[in-house]
Amino acid sequence: MTDNKITTPYNIMPDGKNKGWSNITVQRLLASEIHLGYITYGKTRSKRGQVELVPEEERIKIMGTHEKLKTPEEHEAIMERLLKNRMLNPNSRRNIFPLSGLLYCEKCGSRMRFRVGENKKQGQHWSALCYHQYKDGSKCDQRGKVMDADFFNALYDRIIHVDPNILREIELHGSRYNDTQVIIEVKEQELKKQKRALDKLHESYEEDMITKQVFLERKAVRSRQIQKLEEELKDLRKVVVDEGNYPTVEQIYERIGEFRELWSIAVTSEEKNRALKKLVERIVYDREGNRVELTVCYK
Ligand SMILES: [Zn+2]
Repeated sequence: MTDNKITTPYNIMPDGKNKGWSNITVQRLLASEIHLGYITYGKTRSKRGQVELVPEEERIKIMGTHEKLKTPEEHEAIMERLLKNRMLNPNSRRNIFPLSGLLYCEKCGSRMRFRVGENKKQGQHWSALCYHQYKDGSKCDQRGKVMDADFFNALYDRIIHVDPNILREIELHGSRYNDTQVIIEVKEQELKKQKRALDKLHESYEEDMITKQVFLERKAVRSRQIQKLEEELKDLRKVVVDEGNYPTVEQIYERIGEFRELWSIAVTSEEKNRALKKLVERIVYDREGNRVELTVCYK
């Protein structure tokens, strides 16, 4: 509906822009009793300056004269379906999966979702699925697989044995960070030197050791150099803040240790999810045939 530029009933931003259709907008629209034909008065009231919701039975509900868009039976079916969806929603506390919020599709980059399935062979099981739809209406062709014990064992191994390429990358990053700090120190020394030279220049001029012409020429040169150095230092300090946010190899190992401890005592999905989130930023999922490739990105 967003792609087809259908305006939303809510979601209009203060600047007049329309954010498009969100899950919650669609849910509210589907659940609304207005489309059953009802009009409700007095949903909220003001109590000592505070706005509060009025209990449903105290509201005034009457049949309006506007067009009804669904029958009571359809409404009931919608509500039932919404309730069922909510139970499968990985964001709801009751249904946190070990990988909730962490699994991303390699093929399209979207966050993947989970579904509980049940059959005779596997019993209750989870599958990871990509529901991403591209702008042209085509669907992402990632085919998720059942996340069985083998899957979680492979994932655990993958997480605690950091890919050597990632380690090398982190080490390189660390040495770049150190290099940047050395360059900053050198530039700071150079800046001090230039500022001292400028002070001396002022003294020489005040003591009539140099002419005004020479003073102005030299001053212009020094000032340019000082400005250039200050700008360079400003940029370098920004870089160092960014680089400083990266973990070091030691930190990664420390966090892996914490993760192993938490994981070993984790029983519920929620506890497993919490253990993973201590260490892992995201896990990229890709399935080709029967092979599942997982890439772990650390915090
Ligand atoms: Zn996808």
